[in-house]
Amino acid sequence: MRELAQALLEAKQQVGYCSVCYHLSAEEVCDICRAPSRDSATICVVADSRDVIAIEKTREYQGKYHVLGGLISPMEGIGPDQLHITPLIRRVNQQDVKEVIMAISPSVEGETTTLYIGKLLQPFTRVTRIAFGLPMGGDLEYADEVTLARALEGRRDLEV
Ligand SMILES: [Zn+2]
Repeated sequence: MRELAQALLEAKQQVGYCSVCYHLSAEEVCDICRAPSRDSATICVVADSRDVIAIEKTREYQGKYHVLGGLISPMEGIGPDQLHITPLIRRVNQQDVKEVIMAISPSVEGETTTLYIGKLLQPFTRVTRIAFGLPMGGDLEYADEVTLARALEGRRDLEV
């Protein structure tokens, strides 16, 4: 029984979330947040860790990330308080962030979330969104690397 408890405890410690960006991480702070080569002045905001992995595959992006842990969805009872929005605002206020890139699927929930965060952040920093050549409601993680790289490259200022 004690061995089982110990194993469960270790498993829980091994797969956690980065305390800075909320990406899946075995360490308290993930590899991306710790990498000195990554640009801290740019934060790419995504819905979940799968999106980080998809964008990393493009090898185009050199900034940092912030994982929301979902999207605002009144239908499912998910409000802004259930997402990692407050820590994002704190990061933008505490660091010298020059640009926040909203990389969120253009679904109804995605648009609501993008506009909500855009409104909160625009007084403090430049907010852009990736250009979607993706079908409406298409998920980031299913986009091929070329499409995703182009979407990042073609990002434009968010209008709220
Ligand atoms: Zn991190």
